[in-house]
Amino acid sequence: MTIQLQDPSLLKTQAFIDGLWVDSDCGETFAVTDPATGQPLADVASVGATETRRAIAAAERAMTEWKALPAKSRSEILEKWHRLIIENTEDLAVIMTAEQGKTLAESRGEVAYGASFIKWFAEEGKRVYGDIIPTPQTDRRGVVVKQPVGVVAAITPWNFPNAMITRKAGPALAVGCAIVLKPAAETPLSALALVELANRAGLPAGLFNVVPGSDAPSIGGEMTSNPTVKKVTFTGSTPVGKLLMQQCANTVKRTSMELGGNAPVVIFDDADLDLAVAGALTAKYRNSGQTCICANRLLVQEGIYDAFVEKFAAAVSEFRIGNGFDASTTHGPVISEKAAKEIDAKVQNAVAEGATVVIGGQPGEQGGCFYQPTVLTNVNDSMRVFREEIFGPVAPVFKFKTEEDAVRMANDTEFGLAAYLYTESMGRSWRVSEALEYGMVGVNETAISSEVIPFGGVKESGQGREGSKYGLDDYLETKYICFGAL
Ligand code: ADP
Repeated sequence: MTIQLQDPSLLKTQAFIDGLWVDSDCGETFAVTDPATGQPLADVASVGATETRRAIAAAERAMTEWKALPAKSRSEILEKWHRLIIENTEDLAVIMTAEQGKTLAESRGEVAYGASFIKWFAEEGKRVYGDIIPTPQTDRRGVVVKQPVGVVAAITPWNFPNAMITRKAGPALAVGCAIVLKPAAETPLSALALVELANRAGLPAGLFNVVPGSDAPSIGGEMTSNPTVKKVTFTGSTPVGKLLMQQCANTVKRTSMELGGNAPVVIFDDADLDLAVAGALTAKYRNSGQTCICANRLLVQEGIYDAFVEKFAAAVSEFRIGNGFDASTTHGPVISEKAAKEIDAKVQNAVAEGATVVIGGQPGEQGGCFYQPTVLTNVNDSMRVFREEIFGPVAPVFKFKTEEDAVRMANDTEFGLAAYLYTESMGRSWRVSEALEYGMVGVNETAISSEVIPFGGVKESGQGREGSKYGLDDYLETKYICFGAL
């Protein structure tokens, strides 16, 4: 093991089922590696359908008492879990940087962001209100109550190994559900440390189970076919999301899907240029371009285009890519060599079709998982960098003439997660925000996410919302009770 922690007992490598740390039934494991160095970090238990089935059964048993508790009692445990996450920020950040690659500063930020969902839903879970409906008949009343949806299965990605879990587990547990989680095989250690802290916070056995594994279809197949699971919540790619939705159809499970994006940043001639450059830099290069709300396409109006590209590329030239543990590193590696190769294939496709590389455009020299921060001009809508999610540190800068063109280009995608626009015109900011077919729009701001806002997409970017008061709805059923003969 190469991960040095203040509390080494946070480094867990087994599955957590029904309150116990267990190996896989066959003793199988899979390796977790550091993308910055390629070095192995740990061998983690690789479970399959059988262990997942056991976890689901444990979740069902545990839910009976949990959902009957007052919300205040559930909240107290979640508050304690939140405190433990904050107290262990440094260790959680070290684990995250080791297995995911992002800089330590970014990891610390994610731990705080992840923890905020536990705190928020500990509070919000106490506010699950119903309704009393005046009926057309005088002798009866309609009452609406909200009840926990049932056992929740969650599948999460590697780009935010902490926060993508807490924003599912937080609301699920707060309203009285139990959860079975399959973390990404690239980043299971963050998930296992989180559940260890939940256990220390006093969360009863069976309520939060973690089933790591390298055979995702086997675990996912059980989660989506087992009739005890009433809800599947997924963050990941659109193709896998579609597959899971199809699988869930057989038992009519509810689903929440947070899928791919193709975010435009639309920068108008009347934008504050420095603000737009700073916002676009954050939106594009955060987590080395590996977030689903990362800017994928910069759309810049012709009058400001050259000035924007010059300032933007100058700022990118200041970036230092390297190991996330080095204090001088501004941007870490991408998750795998395969990912770096896919990013390069999209860049080379653009170049072959006439794009100009302003800066970058090559794999990084630091190792197989590195890619140079890249800016491309002379790009057009037939290139892969326009149509596909890049998920890497590559910024294609497209030129547009009119507001109408900008809206058409921005919406010319099957995705609809986040979009951003920069303008100093009040009228335009309203018009364009309303015309953009996206679940979230940032006006003169790209750091749009927090626990208090509804995060989610439209079109093939998914369904459901995470965070905010709306984030509870994904884990609640609406029940109507008719009181008659009054
Ligand atoms: P990414 O490209 O970000 O890795 P994926 O959609 O492939 O996105 O992965 C997101 C999560 O979905 C991971 O936890 C992964 O293991 C899981 N996953 C991938 N394929 C399947 C599948 N067929 N069934 C269930 N889960 C899957």
